[in-house]
Amino acid sequence: MRQIAIFGGTFDPVHLGHLIVAETALHQVSLEQVIWVPSLNPPHKQAALFEHRLAMIQHAIADNPGFRLAGVEANRPGTSYAIDTLIDLSAVYPQTQWYWIVGLDTFRTLPRWYRVAELAKLCHWLIAPRLLSCETKVESEFICTQVEEQMKEQYSIICWQLLHVPLVGVSSSLIRNLCRDRHSIRYLVPESVRNYITHHNLYAGYEGGKRK
Ligand code: ATP
Repeated sequence: MRQIAIFGGTFDPVHLGHLIVAETALHQVSLEQVIWVPSLNPPHKQAALFEHRLAMIQHAIADNPGFRLAGVEANRPGTSYAIDTLIDLSAVYPQTQWYWIVGLDTFRTLPRWYRVAELAKLCHWLIAPRLLSCETKVESEFICTQVEEQMKEQYSIICWQLLHVPLVGVSSSLIRNLCRDRHSIRYLVPESVRNYITHHNLYAGYEGGKRK
């Protein structure tokens, strides 16, 4: 059975933190592929045009044969949910052990995800510790165990493991804020993504605050 991971997110824009997480997952679990799935209409966020986010991911992953981009969410109207993505991709890739890549901040919200009981049975969780949420492996494991307990009480047992990523304090909101303030984002995103942002003048009028 092949092993494939889904990496969902807003990717507004994709940055080096995302790329490091996906590359670590690819090798740590011997995945055949990491499929990047930008959300069309994230439930809790306002985001740049889907076409821009898609194009930036395309640029960022172009030289990595282990990465591919899926625009599956574009085929569905309304809010994007993880369970729908997994069901759609399972039809395209049968006989697959699925993994789902998330940052620790996102994983903490898992018990509140839409149809999480079904989702939890269908995939294993690969969790990337994040500088903004906690600093040590012990703390990360503690938080994941708490989520696991909560899931067990409410729904079912889940399978998870921490990704051994170097902690990188880069976030999309940081990039948007830097662009808005006309500061450099060099080395925080791939050069091709930086050029894309400049060319399309993205985030110049970004009005969000320092969320992270
Ligand atoms: P924003 O700052 O707008 O909230 P973000 O940087 O968290 O964006 P998303 O597209 O929302 O980016 O993230 C997609 C997934 O990647 C989430 O599960 C998130 O937790 C994870 N992630 C993002 N950046 C990092 C990072 N630097 N280290 C580990 N995980 C990350």
